[in-house]
Amino acid sequence: MDRTNLTTTVIDEVQAPARKGGRLFMISSLLAGGTTFSFEFFPPKDAAGADRLFEHIQKLESLNPSFVSITYGAGGSTRKLTRDVVHRVKGRTGLVTMPHLTCVQHSVSEIDEILEGYAERGITDILALRGDPPGGGAYNWEDEDFGYACKLVEHISAFNDRHRGGSFGGFGIGVAGFPEGHPGTANRLDEMNHLKAKVDAGADFIVTQMFFENRDYYDFCDRCILAGIKAPVVAGIMPVQSISGMKRMADLALGMRFPASLLRAVRRTDGSDDALRRVGVHWATEQCRDLLDHGARGIHFYTLNKSGATIEIYRSLGVRDSAQLASGEMLPF
Ligand SMILES: Cc1cc2nc3c(=O)[nH]c(=O)nc-3n(C[C@H](O)[C@H](O)[C@H](O)COP(=O)(O)OP(=O)(O)OC[C@H]3O[C@@H](n4cnc5c(N)ncnc54)[C@H](O)[C@@H]3O)c2cc1C
Repeated sequence: MDRTNLTTTVIDEVQAPARKGGRLFMISSLLAGGTTFSFEFFPPKDAAGADRLFEHIQKLESLNPSFVSITYGAGGSTRKLTRDVVHRVKGRTGLVTMPHLTCVQHSVSEIDEILEGYAERGITDILALRGDPPGGGAYNWEDEDFGYACKLVEHISAFNDRHRGGSFGGFGIGVAGFPEGHPGTANRLDEMNHLKAKVDAGADFIVTQMFFENRDYYDFCDRCILAGIKAPVVAGIMPVQSISGMKRMADLALGMRFPASLLRAVRRTDGSDDALRRVGVHWATEQCRDLLDHGARGIHFYTLNKSGATIEIYRSLGVRDSAQLASGEMLPF
């Protein structure tokens, strides 16, 4: 996983923290202070799933993540569940908790109600997304209050300006980035312009879709800088854990690619979940080691609501917790 000299320059430039009116937002300030390590969860559908999730979150808490994020069911029934899980995680653990918020099939007033609720509960950052259209196929975006995530970012920025004061300092805003490209835009130059529009509208940082080939991430960071995007780019990492999970992810994260070398490693196994997990953890550990070597601004683990693989990756890296990883301190020889 080699990188060019250009990329070394890029990572340094990307370190510029996001400031708005002199204010540094929570996750932005964490990103400015060293590499962040964050965990993503999705809202479970029932009480038993929620209990299981909290057991895993308790285990992962010991890794001292910089922040955690909770996904949002675009247009679906899990929308309210996200808010419940966000408040529960924040209330129970005190972890910096970032809700994802998709704008598809939401009116302006619905979005405002959600934002007001988060502001009241002390949420500091939001991952602003468009979401996929229901049904997946052709969709009439004309009827939507928010056709693209950029509009949501603009809306949150305006919300911040209107409501800032007292204990509410405004939301820090994250947006999605796609190192391998988003299937909705065939022209990759246009796609970078759309990403830049989100940052120009007020996004402070970018969290990437999962990728399995670090070169794609480094190249994406380079292309961001060439497009004039200076927001930090947090790398999305997901250890593969089963064949069925790989197929599901290939469906959900359209356009995402499993490199041939990873597919060969998977095919060498007996196909059992145990063997697959070991391959997945080893691959993701190597990705993280390489990302750390090359100064990635943050690593975001797609946990799939489990703790085991993430804990094993930390162990394989030989580190106790995120603070030790982020400090960048090395043992003297
Ligand atoms: C880190 C991360 C977290 C995610 N979390 C969730 C989640 O919690 N819930 C969920 O449902 N989905 C989630 N997704 C998936 C995401 O909602 C979909 O991939 C969605 O299709 C794109 O969302 P976006 O925010 O990137 O949209 P946008 O930035 O709006 O981009 C969507 C497409 O439109 C194009 N585009 C943007 N602006 C314009 C324009 N002005 N003119 C023409 N084309 C334009 C873009 O290039 C892209 O192809 C997540 C994705 C990532 C990477």
